Amino acid sequence: MSLRIGIAGGSVGGLFAAVLLARQGHQVTVMERARHGLARRGAGLVVQEQVERILRMVGLPRVAETGVWANERIVLDLRGHVATRERRPQMQMSWDLLYDGFRQLLPDSLYLTGATVNDIEPSDRHVNVTLADGRRFEFDLLIGADGQGSIVRSIVNGEAAKIIRPDYVGYAAWRGLVAENAMPRQAADLLFERFAFHFAEGEQALGYLVPGPDGQTAMGERRYNWVWYRQLPAEQLRELLSDAQRTGALSLGPGELPPAVSEALVADAQTQLPPPFAAAVAAEAQPFVQPIYDYESPRMVNRRVVLLGDAAFVARPHTAMGVAKAAGDAMALANALVGRPLDEALAAYEQARLSQGRAIVDYGRRLGQSLSMPVTP
Ligand SMILES: Cc1cc2nc3c(=O)[nH]c(=O)nc-3n(C[C@H](O)[C@H](O)[C@H](O)COP(=O)(O)OP(=O)(O)OC[C@H]3O[C@@H](n4cnc5c(N)ncnc54)[C@H](O)[C@@H]3O)c2cc1C
Repeated sequence: MSLRIGIAGGSVGGLFAAVLLARQGHQVTVMERARHGLARRGAGLVVQEQVERILRMVGLPRVAETGVWANERIVLDLRGHVATRERRPQMQMSWDLLYDGFRQLLPDSLYLTGATVNDIEPSDRHVNVTLADGRRFEFDLLIGADGQGSIVRSIVNGEAAKIIRPDYVGYAAWRGLVAENAMPRQAADLLFERFAFHFAEGEQALGYLVPGPDGQTAMGERRYNWVWYRQLPAEQLRELLSDAQRTGALSLGPGELPPAVSEALVADAQTQLPPPFAAAVAAEAQPFVQPIYDYESPRMVNRRVVLLGDAAFVARPHTAMGVAKAAGDAMALANALVGRPLDEALAAYEQARLSQGRAIVDYGRRLGQSLSMPVTP
């Protein structure tokens, strides 16, 4: 039976589900709030088995084979000397190529942009969805792929009146994505083609090359991705978000940090990070901040509404499993919908993925606990 399936959120999780379900003959509609889609907005990710699998399923295996390599892992001391070195080649594939690849498999008419899901009214057999601009839809099934600040999550958990925010864990990732040619020579010589780390009490800095904004992997066209995990008391985070007039937002993107905060970050880096990392921080004109959250949904399904990806489980970035988790959810949902009545299929989906999501969030907590110790990015 062909179902009318609405998908809130058109990032990779929503797209994974949309492409697989459209191929099974369902009528999918993706509703993405970003006005112009998400092209050129990502960085890189470690290739995981589930990402390779979903790419093979849709005929895009090359996306998982295209990336930039780090040949070894180094740990820098505060003076910038290499304290330890380990040969461990690892590739970063391009988030943007992944997004574009899936996006191109879906006709434009099925991918609505500037489409913010605002109101959801579930009944036993249908789900009515109203967008912020007043457009209304009736679906047989609504998939919440609307990320860590999901509004669909509260419907699934029976708390329609409020948005369930994920739990802030007390530290944030300050980040930058620097065009490789904008990196100072000396820093580039030490950092490029390596996964570099620096550990201090309650802090961690790391960095590695990722593909360019269009998935470029050629020398000169890549970007240097640096991340600096630091404690940030909840009160200061609230102030930061409200200073930037983003109250209610969970993070601040490039260009959204107040200038005084960016300047303080660069100044702190000069004294608290090894010189190559401090140079990378200073080379970033628009640093941004990603506070770290945990969230575990008690359930993934309620009547005709289901959660997928970060809407269901937010795991810390140390796990490097956000995209793989979303891919695993999408494949499990598509699989469950084959040859079963809808209610049975949704129950099977929840059974397959609830424990996986919990395990990944828990893994992230364990990695985050030892923040001052080496963790796998
Ligand atoms: C622009 C972008 C770039 C990213 N880059 C990387 C990267 O380089 N490496 C990496 O490992 N991970 C990256 N991530 C995160 C990664 O995609 C997720 O951790 C993981 O894949 C889970 O994806 P998701 O689709 O569940 O959630 P997300 O990727 O967070 O997507 C949620 C989507 O829902 C949309 N949305 C939210 N609320 C509404 C609403 N009310 N109505 C309609 N739409 C809504 C958002 O605009 C967003 O597009 C990125 C995410 C985004 C959004």
